[in-house]
Amino acid sequence: MHNLTIAELIKGLRNKDFTSVELTRHYLDRIKRLDANYNSFVTVTEDIALAQAKAADERLAQGDAPALCGVPIAHKDIFCTDGVRTSCGSKMLDNFVPPYDATVVENYRKAGAVMLGKVNMDEFAMGSSNETSFYGPVKNPWDTNCVPGGSSGGSAAAVAAQLAPGATATDTGGSIRQPASLCGLTGLKPTYGRVSRWGMIAFASSLDQAGPMTRTAEDAAIMLNAMASFDDKDSTCVDEPLCDYTASLNDSLQGLRIGVPKEYFSEGLQPETAERVQAAIKEFEKMGAEIKEISLPHTSLAVPAYYVIAPAECSANLSRFDGVRYGHRCENPKDLNDLYKRSRGEAFGEEVKRRILVGAYALSAGYYDAYYRKAQQVRRLIKQDFVDAFNDVDVIMGPTATAPAFAFGSKGDDPVAMYLEDIYTIATNLAGLPGLSIPCGLVDSKPVGLQLISNFFDEAKLLNAAHQFQQVTDHHQQTAPALD
Ligand code: GLN
Repeated sequence: MHNLTIAELIKGLRNKDFTSVELTRHYLDRIKRLDANYNSFVTVTEDIALAQAKAADERLAQGDAPALCGVPIAHKDIFCTDGVRTSCGSKMLDNFVPPYDATVVENYRKAGAVMLGKVNMDEFAMGSSNETSFYGPVKNPWDTNCVPGGSSGGSAAAVAAQLAPGATATDTGGSIRQPASLCGLTGLKPTYGRVSRWGMIAFASSLDQAGPMTRTAEDAAIMLNAMASFDDKDSTCVDEPLCDYTASLNDSLQGLRIGVPKEYFSEGLQPETAERVQAAIKEFEKMGAEIKEISLPHTSLAVPAYYVIAPAECSANLSRFDGVRYGHRCENPKDLNDLYKRSRGEAFGEEVKRRILVGAYALSAGYYDAYYRKAQQVRRLIKQDFVDAFNDVDVIMGPTATAPAFAFGSKGDDPVAMYLEDIYTIATNLAGLPGLSIPCGLVDSKPVGLQLISNFFDEAKLLNAAHQFQQVTDHHQQTAPALD
């Protein structure tokens, strides 16, 4: 059953090939037997999953079941779950049990999905390798000596190891697309504002966006249908009409204008990865698309601008974790200052502290104009590059990451090397645009990804292009070596 896609599971449940309880037990059993190899789950919610599966079977029997009824999924441990510990990968929230569900979690519950558990992530979603989690690193199912990418590495490893058919994830600078690329999956970051951020623990509020991680583009469309909503509890959620993202999957790509930015094929890109990406773009040409080279001239400024804006926003967002209102509290504080200092000092990891310090510095009086304002101005230029490009093309394509998965520890001492992991994904977040990564081949027996970027709220076009690609290629059907 774990070989089936979400689309196939939906059919199987309706044909009564298996029940949701059987399916859920099957996945829970796989998690129990295999996850020690990957460390993808922080919390397995067995009792909730079985109760939800039983309720789903009853609805399926009545014949009025919603789309995802009875399909098990995993949630990134950044989404608040009512009564279930939500750690955000941090010692700070190791003891945090939210009294409510995030809108995303609620949307999936309403769509009938079954929650298998909460999956591992870089601490507060800061990282590209999952090495910063308080719960230990997640291993890449393709090669357990390598990282799965981050910050949504638990989501990626769980789906790649077939411990869940799909998972939720979040992307502030690449955290859905880069792990999808490194684990051979389809990962979609929707337009900023398409999916509610309510109940999703904030890292950098103007960049964070939730999306699905799946095996196929069709499954991503099904998951986005459940996930996307207008939510008046999130003031940055946009009241754009919702569509059925599966409806246009089979549209023809004849005449689709694809732009390939020359800046995305620069020196840092591994030649074998570039080759797979170029070959994938050629496939689109065979399907009738027109390919043209374009320029996004401010590309090289995206990483530096992001590493001012994201830390600045995180330093403000993480100030609430003070050992009083939320989170870890130190033993026997001498006074209030001691309580703040030691609680935060003990519970935040090194990368989180680095970002808080950089962010507080960038926002401080006297430096605000030099750093934060300047970075926001650069951000505007980066966005304008895309706006100009979309006058001439429908979709932009290039690599998702510079190379396949790297070994644990290989970038550990050099934060800047790690920051460059997201060189092709970060500009999309700064602009607020949707981006999708799909597998496009193997390098050294490990997957690499093709990134597709479209105009605001044009997720349907990305999913259509990706689905058509997956009809004529089999990269998405390659699976990580099985351990059972
Ligand atoms: N790797 C980037 C960072 O560390 C992006 C993380 C993310 O998208 N959450 O900030």
